[in-house]
Amino acid sequence: MPSIEIIGSGIVGLSCAAFFAEKNCDVTVISSSNGPDENCCSWWAGGMLAPWCEMESAEPLIGELGLESMKFWKQFTSSYQQQGTLVVATSRDLPDLKRFGRRTNNWQQVKQDQIATLEPDLADRFTTGLYYPDEAHFDPRQVLPELVTHLKNKGVKFCTQTSFSKQELEAPSKADHRIDCRGLAAQDHLDELRGVKGEMLLIKSNEVKLSRPVRLLHPRIPLYIVPRDNGLFMVGATMLENENRSGATVRSVLELLSAAYALHPAFGEAEIIEIGVDARPAFPDNLPRIIHRGKTTYLNGMYRHGYLAAPAMAKQLVEQVLRLNTTSEQSNEPAHFTGNM
Ligand SMILES: Cc1cc2nc3c(=O)[nH]c(=O)nc-3n(C[C@H](O)[C@H](O)[C@H](O)COP(=O)(O)OP(=O)(O)OC[C@H]3O[C@@H](n4cnc5c(N)ncnc54)[C@H](O)[C@@H]3O)c2cc1C
Repeated sequence: MPSIEIIGSGIVGLSCAAFFAEKNCDVTVISSSNGPDENCCSWWAGGMLAPWCEMESAEPLIGELGLESMKFWKQFTSSYQQQGTLVVATSRDLPDLKRFGRRTNNWQQVKQDQIATLEPDLADRFTTGLYYPDEAHFDPRQVLPELVTHLKNKGVKFCTQTSFSKQELEAPSKADHRIDCRGLAAQDHLDELRGVKGEMLLIKSNEVKLSRPVRLLHPRIPLYIVPRDNGLFMVGATMLENENRSGATVRSVLELLSAAYALHPAFGEAEIIEIGVDARPAFPDNLPRIIHRGKTTYLNGMYRHGYLAAPAMAKQLVEQVLRLNTTSEQSNEPAHFTGNM
């Protein structure tokens, strides 16, 4: 089996490491961050695994990748929770709820009494909603270290706080094959890659209890809230065509907080724990791509679907890379193939 050097320890790099390790390859993960941490886009994610809700705006391919990835997450992580997703709208925005339902499937319409069973704290506020029972969620900040421990137990080596320079990236790899999973940093090699800014909040409230991600539809500020342990809630997320990761704007924070307040006024008393910002790596069609260039393969463009799509894409990448390596070994020539998935 070939030796594999993976650059990047975000969700894409770690997913690739998991599938290469499964094939008994000699895998080393090299990362400029200290393992998965706040320097990766993956740190800031909501952790929603919502293939049906995402169909409101995404291509069917994302739904297919999502279903495949959910099998991986379900057997892998202890924090995986399949509680479904609840989508609600205020009475003024009910046409939005109808539109959302028309564009998605695998939902059940729920009335006030069913909302009271699913999310008692929201029953007085919403008379109708859509419930997606097969969707799941987890806390990325629990899952990423869990994945690293699992990989180390499988013999994967980690070189953290090691930033690959442009020259190192252009020099041949010492391993048989290099997998570039640098997220947005790979813009220097992937011309079409762009960043889509996402701002999020972490708030703490002991007055509101939610069991599952809740999406509040709104014509201008669609919001989701993902419950985490110890009264924490992830409130997200803006989607701005902007790569500036230096800070969240006042306007974005105001809009996210107003939407949380509209979902439940008790969020007005919540404590703001964190304001986070990053830029999602995306290609123009917002679909992920596997790109082969000689002995380097890129997996990038996860956009807002890193957790939803990375395991399924990583599985495909590993099959393609192992095939390419077998072919080039047989013909004794470097493999050259560039393309989308
Ligand atoms: C606010 C927000 C909410 C989101 N919510 C969700 C969600 O609920 N569900 C979902 O599926 N997705 C979600 N996403 C999207 C998801 O976070 C991204 O798609 C995903 O994190 C991209 O992962 P990545 O591994 O490509 O990049 P990253 O996580 O950024 O990882 C890149 C890695 O490359 C390393 N690196 C970079 N340059 C170098 C170098 N020169 N040398 C060595 N290492 C290098 C970095 O240190 C890092 O380890 C969200 C994103 C945001 C911003």
